[in-house]
Amino acid sequence: MMLVSLTEEIREYALDLGFDGIGFATADPFTGLSQALQERKEGYSWTDKTLQLSQAAEPRSVLPEARSLVILLYDYHKLSFPPTFLGQVGKAYLARLYFSQTRIFGSRVRLFKKFLEQKGMTIKMRPSLPERQATVRAGLGTFGRNTFVYVPGRGSFVGLTTMAVDADLDGASNEPKTRCPEDCNRCIEACPTGALYEPFKMNPLRCIAFQTYCAGNIPGCPPDIPPEIREKMGTWVYGCDICQDACPRNQKRLNQKLPLDAYLVEIAPQFTLERLLNMDDQFYLAKAQPLLYGYIWEKKFLQRNAAIALGNSSGEEALQHLAISLQDKEALVRRYSAWAVGRIGGKRGRALLERQLRLEHDPEVLSEVRTALEKL
Ligand code: SF4
Ligand code: SF4
Repeated sequence: MMLVSLTEEIREYALDLGFDGIGFATADPFTGLSQALQERKEGYSWTDKTLQLSQAAEPRSVLPEARSLVILLYDYHKLSFPPTFLGQVGKAYLARLYFSQTRIFGSRVRLFKKFLEQKGMTIKMRPSLPERQATVRAGLGTFGRNTFVYVPGRGSFVGLTTMAVDADLDGASNEPKTRCPEDCNRCIEACPTGALYEPFKMNPLRCIAFQTYCAGNIPGCPPDIPPEIREKMGTWVYGCDICQDACPRNQKRLNQKLPLDAYLVEIAPQFTLERLLNMDDQFYLAKAQPLLYGYIWEKKFLQRNAAIALGNSSGEEALQHLAISLQDKEALVRRYSAWAVGRIGGKRGRALLERQLRLEHDPEVLSEVRTALEKL
């Protein structure tokens, strides 16, 4: 009788749960990553209070007895996305890859962990585990110059979930490599903020995705989105897919005819920038948070992002909505609304800012209003 190995059993269960792939890597330190993080300390110092990214190169800082890393792949481009969401919300978020136990993706992860525990393993998952490096080490994919991992036949729209386990699962130990064509630079050229400043190097502090959910919202992150970045954020309110959408290695997936995600079709008409800007608590809790709750925990940060997006994208018709948000109880929302009004400008924009100057008491909002008026 042929015995099924433990890794084979685990692999089959992962696929049965709906994951699209699974790989195993050794839990040895990632020395290349450790060096890279040292060299680019400035861009990552904000992580010290949250992710302990400084420990990312050493999986045993997460689980001292770790012997293997298990990487689960989930292809999140199996359904297509309503066009109104594209350019506003990153596809990974639209696909709702959240670990919450009340969500389908979180339930898959929970069942998988339970399976490993029943096999007698101790498991640790932490955001500081270097999932892209682990995926490449496991041989599941290769790096793109945009720093994303590309999986053969799927491209880079794949969710990666990494666990450190105390069992020896014959993990692979592949060295990082790339399959990008030698002369391709499209992702770097497409990045609006220069966050991708060299092949395989991204400065999170300039990344639109980072700014939409980290600034002010996560301890240690910069309190504010710099005006220079705001102008380049376009209409993104959560995440950014530009450097993946520009990539020739993703075009086959992007151009595939796929069925629409029925849930997204249902909610899409409600997700306008104007609605997000002036949403009430009920809309935030019942609609926005279930879709976007991955990182943002306070309504005001989504409202801020919507204000920036409206400032970048709209003509004077947005001013009526910004006139309302200029009265929001949150100074943050009023401040970014003032910035957006200044960016749209015109006679009506000036009048709104001048009125705000008379009514406003918060010093930071007043300062934003004055700067906006000076630029008009
Ligand atoms: S996600 Fe957007 S801002 Fe960030 S590196 Fe890619 S293109 Fe640049
Ligand atoms: S755009 Fe070109 S360089 Fe960038 S990840 Fe894709 S193939 Fe690689």
